[in-house]
Amino acid sequence: MYHVFADPDHIKRERRKAQELRKSQWWRNQVGQGLCYHCGQKFSKELLTMDHLVPIARGGKSTKNNCVVCCKDCNSKKGHQMGVEQTIEEMRARGELSQESAGYGDLENDDDSTGDDGSSGPGRSSQDRGGSDQSE
Ligand SMILES: [Zn+2]
Repeated sequence: MYHVFADPDHIKRERRKAQELRKSQWWRNQVGQGLCYHCGQKFSKELLTMDHLVPIARGGKSTKNNCVVCCKDCNSKKGHQMGVEQTIEEMRARGELSQESAGYGDLENDDDSTGDDGSSGPGRSSQDRGGSDQSE
């Protein structure tokens, strides 16, 4: 595996390269097309920024393959998205996947969570009873 966090020298170097890439004709063409890589909508070039697909801090490079046009909206969303998505996931997990969240509880405190196991038991056994009633 590669290092998860790039060393400061790499970050400095790639950030400088990104600045130069922004001045390049290639980048002007990219921005000139006006399309955000992420949402696919068209923006005026003042609203477009450079986005690294693999962040420099994670070892990404300022190459043409790794740099895409990104609108400021998507760029700012990207920063917050993790938190929002996590919250939604958690709400989903509590509402729809209550058994799974109980399972996570088991992992965290193995000894105290016997009560949770009891609550998931009746739900299963009621299905079994329905079957046995028919067979009698
Ligand atoms: Zn966008």
